[in-house]
Amino acid sequence: MRKMTAKLISGNEIAQQIREELKQEVTRLKETHKVVPGLVTLLVGENPASVSYVTAKQKTSKDLGFYSIQDNQPESITEDQLLKLIDQYNQDPKIHGILVQLPLPKHINETRVLNAIDPQKDVDGFHPINVGKLMIGEANYLPCTPAGIQQLLIRSGVKMDGAEVVVVGRSNIVGKPIANILLQKQKGANATVTICHTGTRDMAFHTRRADILIVAAGKPKAITADMVKEGAVVIDVGVNRIGMTPEGKAKLCGDVDFDGVKEKASMITPVPGGVGPMTITMLMLNTVKAAKWAAGI
Ligand code: NAP
Repeated sequence: MRKMTAKLISGNEIAQQIREELKQEVTRLKETHKVVPGLVTLLVGENPASVSYVTAKQKTSKDLGFYSIQDNQPESITEDQLLKLIDQYNQDPKIHGILVQLPLPKHINETRVLNAIDPQKDVDGFHPINVGKLMIGEANYLPCTPAGIQQLLIRSGVKMDGAEVVVVGRSNIVGKPIANILLQKQKGANATVTICHTGTRDMAFHTRRADILIVAAGKPKAITADMVKEGAVVIDVGVNRIGMTPEGKAKLCGDVDFDGVKEKASMITPVPGGVGPMTITMLMLNTVKAAKWAAGI
């Protein structure tokens, strides 16, 4: 059979495009409506991965011209104190988006905290009201990683209408919402969607049928070339740390055996530089949306 080398879907490039569009939108909002999108990031404790995510979110929001607050709280903060803080930001008219960096320390109930965010300011899209709205096709905010995946597909010209989509993973932050998004009877969606998980009897049977294969399992090389249909579009969400580079940086790989699968797929995302850069960008997009909503624009 003829071997093909997949076209790379560059999350770095597509994220940059969207950020340029957002920059222009922020300028327009400031000049025409005197509205400045406001984002607060709430970080509890000093988990190094969380610190680096929050730092990146802050940097991007400042680059785009947002009003942004980096609220770092000590690990010892109580749940009540955190809930009070969220309430303050819920009332603050300069803040349009509230991002609580997860995971939270064990003594704090994550669900209670996420549910305390005003759904109108829930730019991560995790509040049950927003999850429910996504389910019925009336989403205000799409959760950031799945929204980023949909944008990667749309902006790469991939046809979703009628496509067989197989999602590996059913987490609340990636697997279930991306399945839901692509299932909707809407533009950039309307696919036939299958979700696989650890209870799936014959995963390769499903993945081999996929026109679009989206993998969010958190398992290096869970998907090998023999599990992929010739010409499929493969989106690798996984981020697995597999050691250190000689420069002392974390060495990352996805959930897909990239070298093998790229010879079979028609398009594929790399790790890093695929889905990752899209997540922060979609958080910024949701914050701009929230600012417009609050201003009635
Ligand atoms: P998660 O909560 O651990 O969920 C993993 C899902 O994959 C579960 O539903 C699990 O099934 C399923 N699974 C695991 N191993 C499997 C296997 N061998 N076969 C079939 N299904 C399997 O993970 P997550 O939060 O969705 O994240 C998934 C990956 O994406 C992680 O590597 C994470 O770091 C990455 N991620 C990246 C971004 C980004 O911005 N790039 C954002 C979020 C997550 P069960 O439900 O049966 O346990």
